Amino acid sequence: MSTVLDASFFFGEFPAEGDLFTVPPVVDELKDIRAKGNFEKWCARGLKIQSPSEESRKRVNSAARATKDITVISSTDRDLLALALDLGADLYTDDFAIQNVAFILRVKTIPILQRKARWIQWKYRCSGCGRYAEQAGECPVCGAAIKRKLK
Ligand SMILES: [Zn+2]
Repeated sequence: MSTVLDASFFFGEFPAEGDLFTVPPVVDELKDIRAKGNFEKWCARGLKIQSPSEESRKRVNSAARATKDITVISSTDRDLLALALDLGADLYTDDFAIQNVAFILRVKTIPILQRKARWIQWKYRCSGCGRYAEQAGECPVCGAAIKRKLK
């Protein structure tokens, strides 16, 4: 069994099983001394750093467009998902947008902090007049920002 770890995994002391992987941009995100220490500890236990294939990156991008997570999901997040696709691996993450896209891609996500993964139907609502909208952007009625929120 392979497991892909996102950056938040390294900010605490969490258990992990299987062959462990992460992507190069995650390593760059670990500025914190403790996170770096945890990262090194996992490297000593065989954690591998690998980049995903272009084909999987493309699949992730189209899935993120389909769920409308493309604007909030970072390139690091996309690489994590793509690597999980490449390896047929589970993905450790607490990020809702990642979980959402993973659901479409049939990548299994495991919550790090015991939060329950679920599929989210985003709702968009104007922060000015309160009208519901199809997507984020500027409200056609009052011009205020339309924001995304959980249903
Ligand atoms: Zn409005």
